[in-house]
Amino acid sequence: MSLLGTHVSVSGGLHRAVERATLLGAEAMQIFTRNPLQWHGRSLSLAEVESFRRSLLGSPIKSVIAHSSYLINLAGDDGIRRQSVEALTGEIARCYQLGIDAVVLHPGSSKGGDRGVAIDRLVSSLGEALGRTQDSPVTVLLETMAGGGGILGSCVEEIAGVLDALGWDDRMGICADICHLFGAGVDVRSDGGYGRLVSSIEKHVGISRVGCWHLSDNKGQRGSNTDRHEHIGQGEIGIIPFGMVVSDERFQDTPCILETPKDGIGDEGNLALLRKLRGA
Ligand SMILES: [Zn+2]
Ligand SMILES: [Zn+2]
Repeated sequence: MSLLGTHVSVSGGLHRAVERATLLGAEAMQIFTRNPLQWHGRSLSLAEVESFRRSLLGSPIKSVIAHSSYLINLAGDDGIRRQSVEALTGEIARCYQLGIDAVVLHPGSSKGGDRGVAIDRLVSSLGEALGRTQDSPVTVLLETMAGGGGILGSCVEEIAGVLDALGWDDRMGICADICHLFGAGVDVRSDGGYGRLVSSIEKHVGISRVGCWHLSDNKGQRGSNTDRHEHIGQGEIGIIPFGMVVSDERFQDTPCILETPKDGIGDEGNLALLRKLRGA
C-alpha cells in the first residue's frame, strides 16, 4: 500500500512534527528542516537530532520527506547558484543527521535566460552537491512544476534529461506533484489520463525513481501554469487521479504527501478521504 501523509509544521521543534503527523494517523510526513524562506539554515543541536530520531522510532511514521528552501535556484547565475549549492548541501546534510530518506527540490528557473544554459547549470550544481555529500544516502527528488516563465521541470521528460545528464545517479529521483502536473497541462482527470502519465514516468525515469507524490487539487485550469492548491476533489482536477495514485500497486510504500490547505476539512478530512480511496 502507498503511505499516506501530509506536510506538517515543525513549530515548537522537529519532534513536534512527528507528534502532529501521528495524531493525524499519518504513515508518512513532509517537513521543512529549516525556514524555507531564509538563506541561512542554523545547524541542528545533538539534542534536537536525538529527540527527532527518538520520536520517529516510537511512531507509526514509516517515511519522512524534507522539502528544501524555496530560495534555492541551482540554475541561477553565479552568485545565486553558489548560494544554492551551499544551501542544498546543507539540506542533504541535515536530512542525513535526522535520518530523513529524501529531500524534495524545485528544479529552478532560467529567469528568462536561455533554457538550455539553465539546465546545464542545474546539472552541474546538482553534481556538485551530490559530490560534496558522497557519504550520505539521502535522495534528491526533483519536483514536477506547473511551469510558466522560465520555470524548469514542468514536464517529466525535462526532469528525465537532468537525471540522464547526471548518469542516473542512485541518489536522484522525482517527486510527482499532481497539482503542478495538471497546471503544466497534463490531463489527469480520467483513468486514461492517469494511465498515460504513469506510462510516461515509467518510460522516461522508471517507477522506482518516484520517491514521493504530492497530492492536492488545483483551483486553476489545466495548462494555466498555476498551482493554487485546493482540497482533494474540490478543484479543477477532481477526485479520480488521487484515488488512482493511492491504490496503485506500483507505488507500494511510496509516500503520498498532502499539500492541501489547512483550513476547511483540513488534513483530517483529506487524509480520511485518501484512506477511503485507497480502500483501507
Ligand atoms: Zn514543492
Ligand atoms: Zn508539491
